[in-house]
Amino acid sequence: MSSVQQAASSEPRKYQLFIDGKFVDAESGKTFATPNPATGEPLAEVAEADKADIEKAVAAARRAFEGKWGRMSARERGRLLFKLAQLIEENAKELAELETADNGKPIRESLYIDLPQVVENFEYFAGFATKIEGETIPVSGQFLNYTLREPVGVCGQIIPWNFPLLMAAWKLAPALAAGNTVVLKPAEQTPVGAMELARLIQEAGFPDGVVNIVPGFGETAGAALASHPDIDKIAFTGSTEVGKLIAKAAADNLTKVSLELGGKAPNIVFADADIEQAVNGAMMGIFFNQGQVCCAGSRLFLDERVKDEFLEKFKEKAEKVKVGDPSDKATQMGPQVSSEQLERIKSYVGVARAEGATVFVGGESPVLDEKFQKGYFFQPTIFSEVKNQMRVAQEEIFGPVSCVITFKDEEDLIRQANETIYGLSAGIWTRDITRAHRFAREIKAGVVWINTYNMFNAASPFGGYKQSGYGREMGKHAIDLYTQVKSVWVDLSGKPIGWFGK
Ligand code: ADP
Repeated sequence: MSSVQQAASSEPRKYQLFIDGKFVDAESGKTFATPNPATGEPLAEVAEADKADIEKAVAAARRAFEGKWGRMSARERGRLLFKLAQLIEENAKELAELETADNGKPIRESLYIDLPQVVENFEYFAGFATKIEGETIPVSGQFLNYTLREPVGVCGQIIPWNFPLLMAAWKLAPALAAGNTVVLKPAEQTPVGAMELARLIQEAGFPDGVVNIVPGFGETAGAALASHPDIDKIAFTGSTEVGKLIAKAAADNLTKVSLELGGKAPNIVFADADIEQAVNGAMMGIFFNQGQVCCAGSRLFLDERVKDEFLEKFKEKAEKVKVGDPSDKATQMGPQVSSEQLERIKSYVGVARAEGATVFVGGESPVLDEKFQKGYFFQPTIFSEVKNQMRVAQEEIFGPVSCVITFKDEEDLIRQANETIYGLSAGIWTRDITRAHRFAREIKAGVVWINTYNMFNAASPFGGYKQSGYGREMGKHAIDLYTQVKSVWVDLSGKPIGWFGK
């Protein structure tokens, strides 16, 4: 019954753009290929959106906003989102398999982490549609003053390749719950999930033009979206470098912007931590999703007193990580998303050596079966003897590469941990509850995990301090991103304003 299953085939798939409720070719007729990163084989041929297609999509989104969608009740919007969540859940297995084929993440992650969270986000915000309220304000004088919380309008959303479907869900769900319309641009490396989602959006019965999905490249389609004068809000997740370009492009039209950018999170182990648990937390922090996570615990701070014990255990576990075929349920790490990313990670091995760090574990591509020799695999890697000022500790590598730094005491630790341009997340492992909460206050980051790592829920806000961006996604904070407040004054006295006389 499902659209996704009907689409299943071993031939390279073909996808068109989704504009105004219809699947259409790009105006230019151009397409681009997206490979399976595990094999390097082509996975799909996708229509390539450019400026002209962005124009069409924005116009469709504007018409939808001014039309039926704008007049639809919150309950109806919520019901459509619930319906979409249900369709995604029914198709979760197929979607997870496609996500793994497109991105390279292990199937156990797509199936048991990404897809359930996608469903959770749509359900959470489906429920929120009917809970978006204004307020009445006790102003002085004979007036009724109240606020209306209204949608922002047409939203441009640009997402990355590391959690293709989940990032689409984080963006679409609150925007739609609040009554906006959307033009979504998936990353060129991973357009497949979003295009399958388009089919389900159509099947759920959203009015034409409410959601438009336009795969294409950043410098063309992405830039056209970010600089479009008829876009009311741009939401972006990706690198800090591109985030700055987006903020500049949006500035010309004063388009509202929210940015979720890079990170170089400190994951900190104090001597009093449960070391076994902390090692598992360090693994989760840096090897999950091949390290391609903006909040990855990529700077591992170890208390000097437990460094040796910790590293011995960490090494043992890191060397046992099962790297290989991402479609195999036993696989713990698949390939990196692209050859560019793989090359970038490899180049940092050279940088680390040149800076005087030690390649303690990994540092190379693993030797795998014939079938995966053209895949973009990299070993779980640990650099030890890293100093916080080194490039490998300051620049986002975006791979399975842990940089181990030691610290003497809490003061030394806080100073080093905050010495970064980023501020997305942080982790701490300690049994001292006072220290844990003190740290949570002193660290400049949008998310803090205490004795855990990489935990998410649709109800809990996520976003960055400093150059990790601005705005908070998920939870009620996401509704703030996608609504604006109107203050309404009503005279209750029935008398004329006397100021300029009768
Ligand atoms: P990465 O470097 O990890 O690929 P990017 O920040 O480049 O991450 O990409 C994230 C998203 O931003 C992708 O959808 C990409 O196409 C888009 N993008 C890249 N460059 C631009 C740009 N100049 N303007 C708008 N979007 C862009």
